[in-house]
Amino acid sequence: MVGKGDSQTSIDKKNKHEILLAQGKIAPCIGCHEVCTPEYCSLLDGWLELLM
Ligand SMILES: [Zn+2]
Repeated sequence: MVGKGDSQTSIDKKNKHEILLAQGKIAPCIGCHEVCTPEYCSLLDGWLELLM
């Protein structure tokens, strides 16, 4: 269950980040250039493996 957990500060902000987190690591493409193509992004590829 994902709920109001340990920290009650910046809940909105935290929720947004959780979507982009895998094993506590933020999706690398968040910091990629606008022209980044996820399909060919090796950084994102490695990150996705954490999701599996
Ligand atoms: Zn990328």
